[in-house]
Amino acid sequence: MHKILVTGGLGYIGSHTVVELQQDGFDVVVLDNLNNSKLEVKENIEAITGKPVDVIIADVNDSKALNDLFSSHHFDGVIHFAAHKAVGESVEHPIKYYHNNITGLISLLGVMERHKVSNLIFSSSCTVYGATKDLPVTETTKIQKAESPYGTTKILCEDIITDFAKHKEFKSILLRYFNPVGAHPSAKIGELPLGVPNNLVPYITQTAKGIREQLTIFGSDYNTKDGTCVRDYIHVVDLAKAHVKALEYVNGMKQHVDVFNVGTGNGNTVLEVIDAFEKVNDVKLNYQIGSRRAGDIEQIWADTSKVSKVLNWNAQYTINDMMKHAWAWQKTLK
Ligand code: NAD
Ligand code: UDP
Repeated sequence: MHKILVTGGLGYIGSHTVVELQQDGFDVVVLDNLNNSKLEVKENIEAITGKPVDVIIADVNDSKALNDLFSSHHFDGVIHFAAHKAVGESVEHPIKYYHNNITGLISLLGVMERHKVSNLIFSSSCTVYGATKDLPVTETTKIQKAESPYGTTKILCEDIITDFAKHKEFKSILLRYFNPVGAHPSAKIGELPLGVPNNLVPYITQTAKGIREQLTIFGSDYNTKDGTCVRDYIHVVDLAKAHVKALEYVNGMKQHVDVFNVGTGNGNTVLEVIDAFEKVNDVKLNYQIGSRRAGDIEQIWADTSKVSKVLNWNAQYTINDMMKHAWAWQKTLK
């Protein structure tokens, strides 16, 4: 494993993964259409690692651009981040999501097959487990019909990769991320939400910065320790490192496809996240309790024993680190 293609490598998780790959000695080529990222991320990655990143501005749906790229490089593996990810938007614009997330994957698999590139790491999500009562979730927890077109794309992409890999010399790892938050400790890269954030942590940091007036907690009458929802928040740098471990493992694995939960194994309530943010940063947050958000799952967190045992990966950062780094990053943004 030496040269890796990272699709969506200028995005939030992709950029942190490119840093970890470069720091681990991989040669990285990024393909991104800047749909949800900025070209300046390239310079910020380079400022952290001190190494140049080869960035190709193109769409994964552009088979000709992909073909040209695969003709001019020999890739040992691909990490496929490029996708749309806003759950609410996917409900309003399902075709946009099916097109980008599913057709994009099919286009990529076609070019990988043509050029005999046979290792793929795919970004999946704990959303595939739906509102399960089976907690913590293991990789064998039943997959449920998705609540949104976005969730459906993740289930379908997992199925497409599994079917494709079965009859080919192809190996793939599906990583089911829990809730990625935080930013690089250098504060040079982080999340760049477009418009009003839907996710908790960017909403917290934007409220603390004064961009948003007040955070609303969506429901305090859940059956959890303080009544607010529970999620398994995972530092984006820890998540990025899991991709490096997956790449190191994928080629030698016996089965064609394997799947890993990537979380900390701990659940935190919304109130605990806010409390950590306030304490670690010494900032008072303006928030109110509001009503439940439609479609929210009461609680979910990961059983991480498989990723720990097989990939020898464990989360290192705490919720306090996540809140500290998220705030340091927010403070750098205009
Ligand atoms: P992001 O939007 O920050 O990054 C995605 C990147 O892909 C962006 O840079 C975007 O410009 C690019 N892109 C999108 N469509 C493209 C296309 N057709 N061709 C080329 N580039 C394209 O998102 P992220 O948070 O870094 O998520 C990365 C992956 O992880 C996605 O597949 C997402 O569904 C998955 N995921 C994210 C989360 C999360 O909470 N952030 C959770 C679970 C899974
Ligand atoms: N949340 C909230 N207020 C917000 C955004 C999110 O209370 O403005 C809650 C949400 O109800 C959920 C948790 O924070 O319980 C995490 O939400 P997020 O959208 O970040 O992740 P997801 O729901 O997709 O796991």
